[in-house]
Amino acid sequence: MSEPGKVTLLAGGIGGSRMAEGFAALDSVELTVIGNIADDDEFHGLWVSPDIDTMIYTLSGRIDRNQGWGVADEGCRAINTLAELGAATWMFLGDRDFGLHIYRTERLRKGDRPTEITFDIADRLGCPVRVVLPTDDTVQTRVKTADGWLSFQRYFVENQHSVPVEEVLYEGIENAKPTPEALTAIAEADLIVFAPSNPVASISPILAIPGITDALSQVSAPIIAISPIIGGKVMKGAADAMMRGLGLRADALGVAEYYAGLARTFLIDTADAWLSAGIADLGLRPVVTDILMPDIEGKKRLARQVLECSAPASWGI
Ligand code: GDP
Ligand code: CA
Repeated sequence: MSEPGKVTLLAGGIGGSRMAEGFAALDSVELTVIGNIADDDEFHGLWVSPDIDTMIYTLSGRIDRNQGWGVADEGCRAINTLAELGAATWMFLGDRDFGLHIYRTERLRKGDRPTEITFDIADRLGCPVRVVLPTDDTVQTRVKTADGWLSFQRYFVENQHSVPVEEVLYEGIENAKPTPEALTAIAEADLIVFAPSNPVASISPILAIPGITDALSQVSAPIIAISPIIGGKVMKGAADAMMRGLGLRADALGVAEYYAGLARTFLIDTADAWLSAGIADLGLRPVVTDILMPDIEGKKRLARQVLECSAPASWGI
């Protein structure tokens, strides 16, 4: 059985980068990440790309392991100055992190492609994995609450995703074009994986870019998804709250419904084994295993398990 070499991972921030670390640690894998840009927003005149930065900080060993985002050993002098000046500082940005946002914004103002800028950032920060943007256009998740439409970060950070969600849209998606790099990463992959990321806020804004789902439906490589919800709970984040708000089941079966027709195999936790029959009814092959990644060993174990599931022999045919 030959293991897949080229793995393309669709991923958001924290759950996505945990899975990416697992694959990146396996010698046999050449990993490409297609990251999420729909959380992006402007703060203090600077363009911030939280999920892409979390991915690059994680894979380059700079991440603050305690919180799962931001840079370790951060300072807060810049944000404190902004607060003194009366700026809104509910979105914490550390001093080191500010440097990255300044660099990105300056290059964007020069007219450089966001994908190229991201390659250069990843390269210079020592990220060993190719991180590809799904589009160079601006796509932004908006969340409707009782107070009206909010930017994703206002909903997620300022309101701590505690306000009920009524609707979600991805502003700019209709006119967004996929990058050639993302289409190539999909077409040339031996295996495509949907990370255990927020399906609504992280994976869907990638899938909904015109051309991405078409490209995925044309590949012969296996497509495997992993549930971000274990025992009806998220480890962190707003996936369950957002799914409930959209009238979906906030459990592994709800995530399976989201990916049915695209993914072929779906990894769920042993705690959710009872959902297997429902998942199979959707045309997805359920694989019940331990999908928690508490440490690097857990990340590697899950990555290996995904590779095993992708082997034709594992289909029992
Ligand atoms: P965000 O952009 O930072 O919100 O991160 P993602 O969208 O990539 O991932 C968020 C999801 O990751 C949450 O729903 C978590 O439940 C999930 N998650 C975090 N750690 C783990 C883990 O160890 N295993 C699994 N299966 N899911 C995880
Ligand atoms: Ca995110």
